Amino acid sequence: MNFSFIKTIATGLFCFSASAFSCHGQDLIANQAPIDKHIKVVDSVTIQRYIESKEMNTYAAELYDTWNTSKTHCYNSIEIPDSFKIDLRGFAMPTPSRNITSTFGYRPAFRRMHKGLDIKVYTGDTIYAAFDGKVRIVRYEPQGFGNYIVIRHPNGLETIYGHLSKQLVSTDQNVKAGTPIGLGGNTGRSFGSHLHFETRLLGEAIDPQLIFDFPNQDVTGDYYVFHKQNNNQTTHYTASNTNIKKNARTTSHHFYKVKRGDNLSTIARKLGISVKQLCAANNLNNNSKIRPKQILKY
Ligand SMILES: [Zn+2]
Repeated sequence: MNFSFIKTIATGLFCFSASAFSCHGQDLIANQAPIDKHIKVVDSVTIQRYIESKEMNTYAAELYDTWNTSKTHCYNSIEIPDSFKIDLRGFAMPTPSRNITSTFGYRPAFRRMHKGLDIKVYTGDTIYAAFDGKVRIVRYEPQGFGNYIVIRHPNGLETIYGHLSKQLVSTDQNVKAGTPIGLGGNTGRSFGSHLHFETRLLGEAIDPQLIFDFPNQDVTGDYYVFHKQNNNQTTHYTASNTNIKKNARTTSHHFYKVKRGDNLSTIARKLGISVKQLCAANNLNNNSKIRPKQILKY
């Protein structure tokens, strides 16, 4: 949270009122009052939005330490947090199509995982950005996604849109949720026009149906909580959605990426909390081993 920004705004408002007082008569001030009030309302909304965007950007920035515009999968070295709360508010549906043609999961016929969701679209149908974000990749992969786009979002997710007939955005472009980013198609390894849509957290594919409800054109909740459970060689991801009333104030989490030479007490000191609090937030005890790049909640 950037307090100096708020301070600047607050100081600005104070100066504005103070100068109004000293330079003008009572009537003028009275006339200005509603405008002044209006400005304050607008500014408090602006400040709130700014704080939220700052917090969200910080989350994504703390999760990802690379910005690779040519390689889709580039997060092998990054530790995935045990759980991560993803803010789904402000979403847009990538397509108005409600027709799912293939789900996420293992495909016995091809002996491989299908790490996305296929949604029926026709060539030329508009495809939209699912959240605000920044376009990381715009490429053509003849044996795979065809024409595809990868967007990184401040909520920590990356979304992938495959088999497009046309891309309408370019790398490093900022987009809003609902910005048209491409046109549906049948490029790459695709049999019949459709949208291949993926939702990933630090490269780990999450079933998009846990997040998006295409038949009802909605998200599954205001938040999606990602959980990682390591189970021998198989990694399972279970989901729990918390439906929290819109605009309700929620507990915000912050994340700290472990650096070389850190231990629980040096981290706790840096974050201004006790070792006990740090352990409790991460299901650790005093003797737990932590690794560089591991992500801790606080
Ligand atoms: Zn697919």
